[in-house]
Amino acid sequence: MLDTDEVRTSIREAWDESDPGIFGGHEEGGFVLKDQDSGFHVIRWPRGGRNEIVVPPHANGFVDGVEIIASFHTHPNSGSRFLQEPSETDLRSVRDDPDLVGDAYLGEFVISRSVIYLVLKNAEILELGSTDALLFVTEE
Ligand SMILES: [Zn+2]
Repeated sequence: MLDTDEVRTSIREAWDESDPGIFGGHEEGGFVLKDQDSGFHVIRWPRGGRNEIVVPPHANGFVDGVEIIASFHTHPNSGSRFLQEPSETDLRSVRDDPDLVGDAYLGEFVISRSVIYLVLKNAEILELGSTDALLFVTEE
């Protein structure tokens, strides 16, 4: 999913807009939706705070009638006061969200300065790899 231009570009924009740095950044996030033509597109959530973001309504795993297949948010602050990896709240908000239920739902990407994590529905955390490699690769 991250290897599609649409998703990678949208998440990269969210990352840039969250003003990554030692502190002073704010979280950005969004849903990845499945297009009718089996492509993906991203819709963004309203801007979050330094270490929190509010997820808009998504009853039964749908937004505007389109199925959610993943979600993501950024952890832009790389100072020592801030957690880089997914927080307990992040794990709970994926695991315990009754509206993130679709069979197609993959989990929530957490984008930090150095690593992209994926929080699975069972609250397991995967390290997908380096943020630079996953988001900032350039294609010929
Ligand atoms: Zn978080």
